[in-house]
Amino acid sequence: MNDIRDVIIIGSGPAGLTAAIYTARANMAPLVIEGEPSSTSDQPGGQLMLTTDVENFPGFPEGIMGPELMSNFRSQASRFGAEFLTAKVTSVDFSERPFTIEVGETSYKANTVIVSTGAQSLMLGLPNEDRLIGHGLSTCATCDGFFFRDQEIAVVGGGDSAVEEATFLTRFASKVYLVHRRDELRASKIMCERAFDNPKIEILWNSQVVEIQGDGKLSGVILKDTLTEATRSLSVDGLFIAIGHRPNTDLFEGHLELKENGYLVTEPNSSLTKVPGVFACGDVQDDYYRQAITAAGSGCMAAIDAERWLEDHHS
Ligand code: NAP
Repeated sequence: MNDIRDVIIIGSGPAGLTAAIYTARANMAPLVIEGEPSSTSDQPGGQLMLTTDVENFPGFPEGIMGPELMSNFRSQASRFGAEFLTAKVTSVDFSERPFTIEVGETSYKANTVIVSTGAQSLMLGLPNEDRLIGHGLSTCATCDGFFFRDQEIAVVGGGDSAVEEATFLTRFASKVYLVHRRDELRASKIMCERAFDNPKIEILWNSQVVEIQGDGKLSGVILKDTLTEATRSLSVDGLFIAIGHRPNTDLFEGHLELKENGYLVTEPNSSLTKVPGVFACGDVQDDYYRQAITAAGSGCMAAIDAERWLEDHHS
């Protein structure tokens, strides 16, 4: 168990698995600690496992289902010799090399580590969310807006993400309700003005979604007025939750530098963290683009950075 690996990859979304493909093909025999199926935040495959059709990943002109895409990524990495461990990392020690990664009672050692633990969209915590995600319920307007052409939808949130998504979604939807729990948006002035001026956007102030409805597919929501507590139903074909994201960085607190918002710091235009030999890629260090394709691209960067670093330090 205490063999020293060339590289251990923590996380198995598009970033981690792209890093696995590249490092495997560079003969680095990567071990991918892929997460645990029981957990929504750390499940193998990452956020695309919660998505149905993916139509914007290049190379699939007819689109592909999120889980199938991730299964393809995984098979491709396996084909070149990547090894997988279906488990959650419990702690890391990056204070000396080789680095140590603990999974329960077992320690793994590696000369380089690629961190690709991703991020998760914050959810409302309502009972139907898990069942309806990908079936009318979405957390990504860029990914799923196209499916709501000429339909009525709602966006939850009052920050820049929600207002930006609501505005973007008016390209497709016939009507967008922006559901916000207060009487004032948190978003920047310019974003707010854009939304106020858009005739397709109606802001539902002081409103909270308290129930998401739909059998196979989302059909509407129950809203509660936060001042009067009165409830009413709103029938919509889609609901976008845009109340923020949370990077999966708890493990790295005290070991890697984090930004104020919890995302990992990497050097500009690279995957380098402040710890030489530890690299980060994908949504765990990207609070801006958050796309599968940009995550995959940054996974490739991390693999090349790790390979070159190893060449310079362990040849
Ligand atoms: P955010 O600024 O934290 O806003 C989250 C919004 O969701 C807030 O309006 C909050 O309401 C609401 N919210 C939180 N929990 C909720 C719940 N349980 N139920 C209902 N509503 C809830 O998050 P964000 O909009 O994702 O933005 C994150 C950061 O990225 C910000 O710094 C933002 O400026 C930046 N960003 C920038 C751009 C851009 O410049 N183009 C685009 C997107 C994001 P309250 O207001 O009542 O707290």
